[in-house]
Amino acid sequence: MEKEVVSKNFIEQIIDKDLEEGVYDTVHTRFPPEPNGYLHIGHAKSILLNYGLAQKYQGKFNMRFDDTNPTKEKVEFVESIKKDIEWLGADWEDRLFFASDYFQKMYECAVLLIKKGKAYVCDLSADEIREYRGTLKEPGKNSPYRDRSVEENLELFENMKNGRYADGEKVLRAKIDMASPNINMRDPVIYRVAHMSHHRTGDNWCIYPMYDFAHPIEDAIEGITHSICTLEFEDHRPLYDWVVRECEFPHPPKQIEFAKLYLTNVVTGKRYIKKLVEEGIVDGWDDPRLVSIAALRRRGFTPESIKMFVELCGVSKSQSSVDYAMLEYCIREDLKLKKPRIMAALDPIKLVIDNYPEGQVEELTVVNNLENEELGTRTVPFCRELYIDREDFMEEPPKKYFRLFPGNEVRLMQAYFVKCTGFEKDENGKVTVVHCTYDPETKSGSGFTGRKVKGTIHWVPAPYAVKAEVRLYENIIDEEKGVYNEDGSLNLNPNSLTVLKDCYIEPAIRGAEAYERFQFVRQGYFCVDAKDSRPDALVFNRIVSLKSSFKLPKA
Ligand code: ATP
Ligand code: MG
Repeated sequence: MEKEVVSKNFIEQIIDKDLEEGVYDTVHTRFPPEPNGYLHIGHAKSILLNYGLAQKYQGKFNMRFDDTNPTKEKVEFVESIKKDIEWLGADWEDRLFFASDYFQKMYECAVLLIKKGKAYVCDLSADEIREYRGTLKEPGKNSPYRDRSVEENLELFENMKNGRYADGEKVLRAKIDMASPNINMRDPVIYRVAHMSHHRTGDNWCIYPMYDFAHPIEDAIEGITHSICTLEFEDHRPLYDWVVRECEFPHPPKQIEFAKLYLTNVVTGKRYIKKLVEEGIVDGWDDPRLVSIAALRRRGFTPESIKMFVELCGVSKSQSSVDYAMLEYCIREDLKLKKPRIMAALDPIKLVIDNYPEGQVEELTVVNNLENEELGTRTVPFCRELYIDREDFMEEPPKKYFRLFPGNEVRLMQAYFVKCTGFEKDENGKVTVVHCTYDPETKSGSGFTGRKVKGTIHWVPAPYAVKAEVRLYENIIDEEKGVYNEDGSLNLNPNSLTVLKDCYIEPAIRGAEAYERFQFVRQGYFCVDAKDSRPDALVFNRIVSLKSSFKLPKA
């Protein structure tokens, strides 16, 4: 029998080995966001990776808010994060946790460390601690408070907890090794005094645990087996292991690092997005030009497309940056066979068929998706006055232009041949109406073979057209100039949003609801904007155009 070739990523290989060797007998992962902003495409990778592993190994996936830092956290972010993860389809079942629920347990761990002589209260200031820490080349120096007795440390830590000190006056530090080649191991601070209200625990605490101390405890309490994080935590792993070991958790979780997902010329940093939002440059965290999950959803991306994208990116240990075009490829692939293709004139001009009887209307049956018959058909009224797209007519065409120009004949999509007989202009020289005649013999589906035309254009019946607003997007960053200016500000593209107010769409669009997606033939994929669209004033976001610069690499 031929051996099945399954390529596994490096994390799966580690898990396989752990299960084989009995290090763990199950897989339990988590996603631990800090509720200090909206999630973005990079987080989606982490969510789908963690959830995907739990599914693949029939294990469990926890959702946990890492809310140990009361300064930056907000309830608004908690809600948006939950919504985004649900939308992506990662199901935490009944396992939604908050790190702040473990504050008591963390405190007890700190007391245990003190009792074991593994932690001490230090009075050095933040600056002094930094000075004493040493550098990559030089070892650090011991704090003068390092040898306080267990009793004294217990008392001082109790005082810290009871609010006897001002912020920054004292900290609790792990007692590890000031000469360690790994700076993270040089007696890191594990608790600080901060007289701040927390969004869940209120004023119960005025000491808060530091991330490197809190995170391993959170994982261990929840029985996480594989604690997956990004590369910048690689050097923190010895500390992670130290905390779990010294706090005497019986089933130590294992930290595994992978490379962050970056998109070339795309901003994901919270600091920058926050500024764009605050300065009103974008329409909130869900502005369709951003790559927050909320923005991608509003623009019209599907969870399936994001999943496909994340899978194509793969999981690795080496930092790299992926083209936005790959994300576009994924949404095109996802929608291609699923969505009807309807006709819309985004920059409309009138087309009058002078020999078509006034008042006559034909209900043409048109195919919804020529590549997928299952989507069926719809009817479009055909009549004397239509709209076509301005770019489908030229007064003086260049070579190889096969659309409408005086004397030329084209097919109106799924309808008749028409021949351009003339046009009208306004006082500024702008074409306002194109005239043509149609040939009744050439009806689509009639089997007409008399002659051929080289161009096919879409159209919308003018009296039945639905007027709509369409928003076109480009990267908010000016890619030519790079992401950042010399002063560190973003290099913004002034053309990142184009609003077309007077588009006409065929009547089938009537009643389109928030997040409904369509292909507008020859133009791209569009989605009803969930924020601004109204039943009587539809607004569409262009998700992606049809043209692609991205080619899937050969496997
Ligand atoms: P950012 O600063 O980009 O918003 P963060 O690291 O501050 O990200 P957290 O809330 O701390 O955001 O991250 C939650 C989880 O998501 C962490 O496990 C983190 O490693 C992961 N993560 C964050 N950014 C990315 C990324 N670009 N690619 C993959 N995973 C990421
Ligand atoms: Mg963070």
